Amino acid sequence: MKKHNVKILESFFVTHDVKSFIVERPEDYMFEPGQATEVSINKNGWKEEKRPFTFTNLPEDNFLQFIIKSYPEHKGVTKEIHTLNVGDELILHDVFGTITYQRKGLFIAGGAGITPFISIFRNLKKTDRLIGNRLIFANKTKEDIILQKELGGLFGNDFINILSEENHDDFQHGTVTKDFLKKNMNERAENFYVCGPEPMNEAVIEQLTDLGITQKSIIKEGL
Ligand SMILES: Cc1cc2nc3c(=O)[nH]c(=O)nc-3n(C[C@H](O)[C@H](O)[C@H](O)COP(=O)(O)OP(=O)(O)OC[C@H]3O[C@@H](n4cnc5c(N)ncnc54)[C@H](O)[C@@H]3O)c2cc1C
Repeated sequence: MKKHNVKILESFFVTHDVKSFIVERPEDYMFEPGQATEVSINKNGWKEEKRPFTFTNLPEDNFLQFIIKSYPEHKGVTKEIHTLNVGDELILHDVFGTITYQRKGLFIAGGAGITPFISIFRNLKKTDRLIGNRLIFANKTKEDIILQKELGGLFGNDFINILSEENHDDFQHGTVTKDFLKKNMNERAENFYVCGPEPMNEAVIEQLTDLGITQKSIIKEGL
């Protein structure tokens, strides 16, 4: 397994607990939208602590971007990564496949589960293939919505937000249920892309199955 030390070129908050990291791109380091790598921090005590994160930039960009939610209570890699500054280094490992785009569909994301979809959406937009896809994005509060403005611009009326812990006129309230899915399904969806915390994935897949969606049209990743 090859390791690549890369410098952080830029970092900024995307939400109150999620940061974007733009890092150097190693030569000949290729990935497909939706793929990920294991990342560790090039600091004593952290080099062997590898965690998976997804590339969110376009495959042709000359940099890499990660969008990382911090869980300070884990006292782990995501807490430490959020303390890093421009010039600090990450260690990247092999690229591995997670979710890849197949056919038009309904994307269902929970929280940081949006990350594998970001590069897919940016790439579909760039290649004029985004129309006909729809995004359901489940979060606790409005402040938790990652890249709300960009996703709204990409999807327009096909961007459906649902918040479990807040009521707002512009957002649906509650969790993703079978009825909610039935109401918000796009008719032309051939694939159902699901990515969120494992309990949400399990519930959504069960609901989709109850609605008659076949297993082979469901593409799933757990965070
Ligand atoms: C393929 C894939 C791609 C991913 N891509 C992204 C991405 O692009 N962006 C993103 O934000 N996330 C992504 N994730 C999720 C991300 O990998 C995890 O959030 C990350 O590994 C957490 O690392 P951590 O060291 O902070 O915490 P952990 O490794 O979860 O935990 C560190 C320590 O804390 C302890 N711990 C665990 N849970 C708790 C708890 N609730 N309270 C207290 N202690 C606890 C554990 O025992 C462990 O020893 C991805 C996951 C996968 C599988």
